[in-house]
Amino acid sequence: MHSGSTIEISQSALKKNIQLLRNTLSPGSTLCSVIKGNAYGHGIEQFVPMAEREKVRHFAVANDNEAYRAFEAMSDRSHLMVMGDMDASSIAWAVENKVSFWVFSLQRLKTAVDLGRTIGEPALVHLELETGLNRTGLEEAELPAALELILDNPEAVKVLGICTHFAGAESLANYVRIEHQMKDFKRISTGLLEQLPGPVQLHTACSAAVLNWPHTHMDLARIGIAQYGFWPSEETRIQYMLRTAPTQDDFMKVKDPLRRILRWKTQIMDIKKVTAGQFISYGMHYLAKRNHRIATIPVGYYHGFPRKLSNYGHVLIRGKKAPVVGMVNMNITIIDLTDIPHAAVGDEVVIIGRQGKAEITVTSFSEQTSLLNYEVLVRLPADIPRIKVR
Ligand SMILES: *Cc1c(COP(=O)(O)O)cnc(C)c1O
Repeated sequence: MHSGSTIEISQSALKKNIQLLRNTLSPGSTLCSVIKGNAYGHGIEQFVPMAEREKVRHFAVANDNEAYRAFEAMSDRSHLMVMGDMDASSIAWAVENKVSFWVFSLQRLKTAVDLGRTIGEPALVHLELETGLNRTGLEEAELPAALELILDNPEAVKVLGICTHFAGAESLANYVRIEHQMKDFKRISTGLLEQLPGPVQLHTACSAAVLNWPHTHMDLARIGIAQYGFWPSEETRIQYMLRTAPTQDDFMKVKDPLRRILRWKTQIMDIKKVTAGQFISYGMHYLAKRNHRIATIPVGYYHGFPRKLSNYGHVLIRGKKAPVVGMVNMNITIIDLTDIPHAAVGDEVVIIGRQGKAEITVTSFSEQTSLLNYEVLVRLPADIPRIKVR
């Protein structure tokens, strides 16, 4: 099957990232691989077996649709946790399949208990505590009622975890707010642990917290973006480098320990000449001031290549950076080949990743477009084939 472009996912880069993260985690803390947003654009079906090869056995998704896909992709030795939206039928499915899920309201806890009783298997839940993100989470005032429901129905519900989510661990500006969250979480969870039958896992950390705040690691660390080789923010990267480099001098020399596991590539679809004085592509956004040789690639904004990169972005051809000329179209982008005279139809074009010594980073995308790394990644359409490479 011909496809306009392909996303390669590297097993060896993933191995390096998982090793780094395991070495960073405090003893006793288990790595939970967050694969929401189609595994941050990498493809749930392709990513899950690759992570399992690195002995990852705990996965987290955001909703029921992702849960069904992850469950199919997973071996029966792995555990799946759903952190967000589910309806009653998917909660029933979760109970039947021992998939755990977050409870952030009394109503959801009641649904879980009812379904656990009907099915004859305990619902496996994580109590999400409101500690200051003010998004979802059980309020402190709701906890006595929640505890009563749990302790009265041990055959219908089992608490596997107590958790919360930080309000922006990727920025030091949020430090005070997050320390307040930690303090509240510790106080409230300690109270709950005294009453709940064990074992119960405590979990709060996302990638940024794992990388820079060891005191947040606890029993389970929910790692998303870092396992794919991306820093949650530039600030997280600098903070990590400063924290781990022995001296300031070393800091300047430290190589980025994370490896991007994704490489997005296509090929030159056509080549033609444009003479000086003509406009290239729609409208009058690029006037050829000299004779040009241009290439078209079968990738446009439909495929997640941002329109903001019109007249601005680059791709790699024959190991060299080649500029985007004119507007990015829905399914086509035009590249200037004037300085790469030997390029030919069918040549590999790298949109994100390395080619020879050159690299186009997702970060360079996001800087140019004011999109977050996270946002660029999850916009990669699900129908681009993902293939595993070494
Ligand atoms: C997305 C998410 C994570 C992972 O965040 P990263 O910054 O990608 O590591 C952890 N916990 C929750 C609740 C999330 O929604």
